[in-house]
Amino acid sequence: MRTPMIAGNWKLHKTIAEATSLASELTAAVASNQNVEIVVAPVYTALSKVAETLAGSNVKLAAQNCYPEPQGAFTGEVSPLLLKDAGCEYVIIGHSERRQLFAETDESVNKKALALAEGGLGTIFCIGETLEERETGKMFDVLRQQVTAGLKNLTTEQMKTVVVAYEPVWAIGTGKVATDEQAQEVHSFIRGLLAELYDAQTAAATRILYGGSVKPGNVDGLMTQPDVDGALVGGASLKAEDFARIANFEPAA
Ligand code: PEP
Repeated sequence: MRTPMIAGNWKLHKTIAEATSLASELTAAVASNQNVEIVVAPVYTALSKVAETLAGSNVKLAAQNCYPEPQGAFTGEVSPLLLKDAGCEYVIIGHSERRQLFAETDESVNKKALALAEGGLGTIFCIGETLEERETGKMFDVLRQQVTAGLKNLTTEQMKTVVVAYEPVWAIGTGKVATDEQAQEVHSFIRGLLAELYDAQTAAATRILYGGSVKPGNVDGLMTQPDVDGALVGGASLKAEDFARIANFEPAA
């Protein structure tokens, strides 16, 4: 019942020309893939041009961040309204790089989640533990806190447009992917938590992506896990061939 999602986070990479060229290579490579929701998140400056390139394709557009106010005296910020205007259907929030490098907190992520829900945009809501938190037995508490505070006051109805991305910080950009079993263990925990915070139906319907060094060589195993509904991909989304192979994953029967 859950349509898999494969989302590419291009981070701070690609000029407008490079981004549109990657987008057009990608649309050609995934044109026949009708079973997966495929999303790419370029830098702000490339959004409108990439939107033009993606028009009529099965690849959707996302932004990597937003500011939770529609407009006003907020120099340097971009609102959900403007991202929608640029062609975005989703926005990534709470990425660990933003939490670590730009002081994002569960509270600021929550404001963004609420603003996106009100603005009619889909949310890719990232959570994940550090290696130290995992090794000292704090992982489940940390994840519980991130989910509870990050999604605070979102209604069951608003949860329909939220996708959770579990991204263990130690696996992002490190080449160290979680094992299939580690991913499944945490995804199943998150789904249980959503059932507790919302209800069984919401938990069963919410997509939970895995992120952290997903590559063409490990996606099939991850996607075979019952609670892994897709992937948020950084490095490997910068090459059309690799990202297309990830989007065209082949889970074991
Ligand atoms: C990410 O930044 O969301 C990510 C998962 O990066 P990578 O795939 O490079 O680990």
